[in-house]
Amino acid sequence: MIVFDLACREAGHVFEIWFGSSDDYESQKKRGLIACPYCGSTDVDKAVMAPRITAKSNQRSEVIRAPLESPPPVVGPSPSGAVVPMASASPSPEAFKAMVQALAEVQAKMLKGSEFVGRRFADEARSMHLGEQDSRPIHGQATIEEAQALIEEGIQVAPLPLPVRPPGQDN
Ligand SMILES: [Zn+2]
Repeated sequence: MIVFDLACREAGHVFEIWFGSSDDYESQKKRGLIACPYCGSTDVDKAVMAPRITAKSNQRSEVIRAPLESPPPVVGPSPSGAVVPMASASPSPEAFKAMVQALAEVQAKMLKGSEFVGRRFADEARSMHLGEQDSRPIHGQATIEEAQALIEEGIQVAPLPLPVRPPGQDN
């Protein structure tokens, strides 16, 4: 079996017809057996088809970044020392949305049982590190300088994948 893209000369209708062989097409055409299914014209010929171009996925290298709140929220001290995986690819908007969704789930798990201490984060983390209070999972806000100071003091802090809205400050 062979398929031909055919077109009627009068109106230019394009249609496909299967034949047993290339010879079948020639003989049926000669006998006027091939008719345009749209207008019935038997004056048909092989259609000139544009090459079929496979649409490639639009690979844009545009990097979309989540807006960061300032100061950046940080989490810690983390007993597991969890490393937050950051995507390095350039995602499509859909992939980016899915990625943010995934990050939000990871973050929700990270923050489960963690206390939001807001701007007291650096003080609280340092206090726990010094043994002034029992260690517990906390998250809050710190400036870059505060976070760097904590790290230099050997206190484990990690930036959260997504900005955190302080409780009670929605909208
Ligand atoms: Zn036609």
